[in-house]
Amino acid sequence: MKKLKKRLVEEFSAENISAREISSAVDKAEIEIKNYRRDVREFGEAVLERIKKTGEQAILLVGRPYHIDPEINHGISEMIQSYNLPIISEDAVDHLPTKAKDISVVNQWSYHARLYHAAHFAAENSNLTLIQLSSFGCGLDALTTDQVKEILERHGKIYTMIKLDEVSNLGAARIRLRSLLAALKKKIPVPYSPVEMKPRPRFTADCKQTHTILAPQMAPIHFELIQAVLKKYGYRIMIPELPDKAAIDLGLRYVNNDMCYPAIVVIGQLISALKSGDCDPNHTSIILFQTCGACRATNYISVLRRALKFAGFEKVPVFACYGLPDETDDFELSRDCLMDAIKASVYGDLLMNVSNRMRPYEIHQGETDKLFAECMTLAKSDLVNGNYLTFRRNVKNIVAQFDEIEIDEHLELPKVGIVGEILVKYHPVANNQLEKILAQEGAEVVMPDFVDFFLYTAYDAIAKQKLLVGSHKDKIFAEIFIQLIEFFRRPMKNALKDSKHFRSPYSIKEIANLASRHVSIGNMAGEGWFLTGEMVKLIEEGVENIVCLQPFGCLPNHITGKGVMHNLRESYERANIVAIDCDAGSSEVNQLNRIKLMLAVAKKYLAG
Ligand code: SF4
Repeated sequence: MKKLKKRLVEEFSAENISAREISSAVDKAEIEIKNYRRDVREFGEAVLERIKKTGEQAILLVGRPYHIDPEINHGISEMIQSYNLPIISEDAVDHLPTKAKDISVVNQWSYHARLYHAAHFAAENSNLTLIQLSSFGCGLDALTTDQVKEILERHGKIYTMIKLDEVSNLGAARIRLRSLLAALKKKIPVPYSPVEMKPRPRFTADCKQTHTILAPQMAPIHFELIQAVLKKYGYRIMIPELPDKAAIDLGLRYVNNDMCYPAIVVIGQLISALKSGDCDPNHTSIILFQTCGACRATNYISVLRRALKFAGFEKVPVFACYGLPDETDDFELSRDCLMDAIKASVYGDLLMNVSNRMRPYEIHQGETDKLFAECMTLAKSDLVNGNYLTFRRNVKNIVAQFDEIEIDEHLELPKVGIVGEILVKYHPVANNQLEKILAQEGAEVVMPDFVDFFLYTAYDAIAKQKLLVGSHKDKIFAEIFIQLIEFFRRPMKNALKDSKHFRSPYSIKEIANLASRHVSIGNMAGEGWFLTGEMVKLIEEGVENIVCLQPFGCLPNHITGKGVMHNLRESYERANIVAIDCDAGSSEVNQLNRIKLMLAVAKKYLAG
C-alpha cells in the first residue's frame, strides 16, 4: 500500500491532488474491497450450506471482473436464475480450501488463479456446476478455458463456456444452458475422488546424448548461428525447415484458435517436423524460450504440451532453455554457452544490418550476398573455435568489408523499418516474406536488432522496481545482464560508428527514454513499450517509413503498436506508419496493397 500511495502521488502530481487525499482514498478503497469480499463470501457460504441440505444444483458462474456489467453479460445471470438455479461466483469460494491444486499452465494472474481454484472447487462438490463466461476475441482465455475444461473433465464434470460478444441475443446461451440442465438430470453425481495428474516427460541429462533437440525457427540468420553454438556444447539441435501452409494448418488444428498467431506458427512447425519422420519421436525433445512475463508466451510451453498430446506425441519432453526453474529440466545454459549465444546474436544483428544496408545499392549484383555467406561461415567457425579477441577482430573486419562494397552513392531509396512482435518480425513465413517484398518494391529494409528484445525484457526488471513492485535484487541482476550484452556489442558499436555507411544501435535505456514520451514503460506485456520505442528510434534515425506487424490475437502489441500510431503521427509530421495484421487467414493482396500505399507516400516524401 505504501508503494501504491507513493506511485499514485507521482502519477497524479499534475492533477493537483494532494498526497493526503490520495492516502485517504486508498485507505477507504481498501476497507471497501474487504467489505465487498466479505459480503460475497458470506453469500456464497449461505448458498453452499443450503444446497448441501436440499441437494439442489447451483451454478458457479465464473468470468472476468467486467463480466458483472449487465451491458456486457447481456443478463446471463438473470437467465440462469429464471431456471431456479442459485448462482455464486469464483470470488465466493476463493477462501474455501480444495484438495487438489494441480494445473498444467503457469498460474500467473490473480484472476486466473481464482478461476482455477473455482474449477477445483466445482470438481470437488457434486452439486456445483461451473459455467465460464468468456469474451469474443479474448486470447488470454484461450489458456484459461482450456485449463478450466481440463480440470473439470479430469474429474468427470461437465464444462460449459458461454462466449459473449456485442450481440445481445441470448438464444444460443439459452440452448446451451438447457442442454446443460438436461445433461445434469441424466448424470448421476459421482462423489469426488482425487485424480493424479500424469507426470510430464522430462529432458534428462541422458537425453543430451540420446535425443535430437527440436527448436522452432524464429529468426533464420540468428538461429543458424545459435545452432552452431549449441552444437559446440554437445546438444544435437535440429531447426526444422521454414513451415509451409500445411504446417500452419497443423498449428490451427492442435492449438486453440484464440491463441495468438505466433503460437500457431511455432507449434505447427514443430508438429509438422515430428510428423515428417525427420526425427524419431522416441528420441526427440523440444526446446522453447519462456519469456516469464505477463504475456501468453510464458505459456507456449504448456500450450505445446497439450497440442503434442492431441497429435499423439505426448511422450516428447518439452523444456525451456530459459524460464521458470521447473521448466528448464536438466538443460544447462552454462556461462560459456550463454556468452557464445550472445556473441552469435551480435554477429546475427551485424550481418543482418550491414547486408540490408548495402544490398539495394550494390553496383555488382550479388556481391553483398556473397560476402554475407563468407562472413556467416567465418562467424560460425569463430563461435566454435574463437575467443573474445577473434570475435572483436572479426566484427571490425566485417564492418570494414561491407563498408567497402561498391554502391551507387547517388541512388536514393525509401528506408522502411520493420517492427512488431518478435516472431512475426523476423520469421519470413509468419510475415509473408515482408523483407523480400519491400526489397522487390524498391525499398531499403531496416531491421531493429534481435538482441534489443532481450535487453528490453531485462530492462523491465528495472522499470518494475521503479514503477511497480519489482525487487532491488532483480534490478541489479538485470543491470548486470544488460552490461554483459553491451560488453559484447561494444566492438560492433564502435566499428559501426567509425564506418561510412552504417548507424550504431541505441542503448536500451535510450530506447526506453524515447518510448516514455508516448507510453508508460509500465507497459510490459508482449513487446510493450519497446514496440513504441523501436518506432520512435527509427523515426529519430531518419527511417520514417515503418511497417508495424501485429499478430492476430496479440492484445498488448495492439496497444503499444497500433494504439500509439496516431500520437506518433501527431508528433512526427512525416511518420509514415502502416499496421499489417498477420494471421493464417490474412489476405496477402490486402497486405500488399497496404504496403504499396505506404511506399507510395514514402516515395513522394523522398521526391520532396
Ligand atoms: S506478445 Fe502478442 S503474440 Fe506474443 S505472446 Fe503476447 S499476445 Fe501472444
